[in-house]
Amino acid sequence: MRPYILAETNWKAIKKLDVEVAVLPWGATEAHNYHLPYATDNYQIEAIAAEAGKRAWGLGTKAMILPNIPFGVNTGQKDIDLNINLNPSTQFAILSDVIEVLNRQGILKLILLNGHGGNGFKPLLRELGLKFTKMLLVTTNFFQIVDKSAFFEESGDHADEMETSLMLHLRPDLVLPLEEAGLGKERKSRIKGIREGWAWSERNWSMVTVDTGIGNPKKATKEKGQKFFAAIAQKLAGLITDIAQTEIENRYED
Ligand SMILES: [Zn+2]
Repeated sequence: MRPYILAETNWKAIKKLDVEVAVLPWGATEAHNYHLPYATDNYQIEAIAAEAGKRAWGLGTKAMILPNIPFGVNTGQKDIDLNINLNPSTQFAILSDVIEVLNRQGILKLILLNGHGGNGFKPLLRELGLKFTKMLLVTTNFFQIVDKSAFFEESGDHADEMETSLMLHLRPDLVLPLEEAGLGKERKSRIKGIREGWAWSERNWSMVTVDTGIGNPKKATKEKGQKFFAAIAQKLAGLITDIAQTEIENRYED
């Protein structure tokens, strides 16, 4: 039983614990090329949150990892079988209810730990910040915590070398042999501004990729995944501790 994982701990322990910061992981349920499981984002974000929580406790920080929310925004993948979509407005409603509980009980610091590229929490936290003015609401995307290019050879953003390596480290029992993976080739937009990355339109997933992957997973290894995982968990534990130690009303330098 890990005392920093809410799903595993109990009222006896929680009653006498002063939680300094809550961490809410948020994943997605979606196809990940041919070779990774639908819950890839959930396995990844739960494991990262748990390891960061463990390390934060090791630094003396009373962080509490809340249960992961397993469905994310998949609006661009409406025709991909069993990709379960939560609309941003539904996410807003869920987040609002969770934050209301924390706010009422005096747990005023929350880190929203995002595990899925389609989830965009900044606008939600802007609006909720107006409603819950005493709270410190922070979000981070796990895939941007450290520089991916220092760990992986091929770039990508879905079921790519990074995600495949992480899953080979975390749940190798759920990864098909890499010969069965597609190449994760992304078809670029014919619109120049979008292709160059300075204009944006949501990608129509089934037009952009044939195997649902974006990024070649073939050079993935368990060792790369293990190193990347440890680097993220370490930095995240630092963020959790930093937030716990910072007074909300005095959080900017002189
Ligand atoms: Zn993913």
